[in-house]
Amino acid sequence: MIDAGISTRSVIKFLKDIDVPIHTIMGILITHNHNDHIKGLEVLTRKTNLPAFTTRKVWNSIISYRKDIAQDCIREISLHQKFHLAGFDIEAFPVNHDAPETIGFHISEGDTKMTFVTDLGEISQTVAHYVKAANLIVIESNYDEQMLINGRYPYYLKTRIKSNRGHLSNRQTAEFLADIINESHSNICLAHLSKNNNTPEVALKTLRQAFSERVFPVNGHPHISVLNRNTPTEMITLTGTLSNANRSNLKEPQSCVDE
Ligand SMILES: [Zn+2]
Ligand SMILES: [Zn+2]
Repeated sequence: MIDAGISTRSVIKFLKDIDVPIHTIMGILITHNHNDHIKGLEVLTRKTNLPAFTTRKVWNSIISYRKDIAQDCIREISLHQKFHLAGFDIEAFPVNHDAPETIGFHISEGDTKMTFVTDLGEISQTVAHYVKAANLIVIESNYDEQMLINGRYPYYLKTRIKSNRGHLSNRQTAEFLADIINESHSNICLAHLSKNNNTPEVALKTLRQAFSERVFPVNGHPHISVLNRNTPTEMITLTGTLSNANRSNLKEPQSCVDE
């Protein structure tokens, strides 16, 4: 499981909705300390005793004000150092965002790979490297630029979101994906859409527009999904060696105070 931004009750319910028992979850990977990613972490670790993995810097920024996280669940990982969990090789990499540290995850089993990256203000060479290497890409497509500019957010918040330590716009994500996409990318999931400055339709339209200007992709490949903020995503099963379909389930945190 990646991040814990919703209540334990919701986690259990949403997993049940897609026939995944909670006991099949082997651990929690944490990207950063913003509330929309860790709101449910204290209760979840205490109720399930699941190990939770992130870097020392992220842990330091969490445990100073989340004192009820079960201490024996805390696992420290290092950037760019693979570790093994539930049959997967997992590697954390840094992204640029306005938290003490924010990380993305590259997860692989044999030749089947996914990259999960939300909450980033720019696409660094490191991010591009891990996204290019994945079959399944889960990437932020946070806001529509016009909706943000014309919206009601205060000036400082608009500036923060647009900055290179904020979030990726639909256009940034779409242009980047259109540049790097190739036959090895089987699935794209647009994630972390702003509730106020985006809609699934607008995000998808922006991506399709960028893709239409390129020769590739064609004929429904790669498969594109937009992850809903409030409901579980359909099960995505990757071909190749990733045999346990349950493991490929992805769910987006429900609420997003950092927008
Ligand atoms: Zn977030
Ligand atoms: Zn954030």
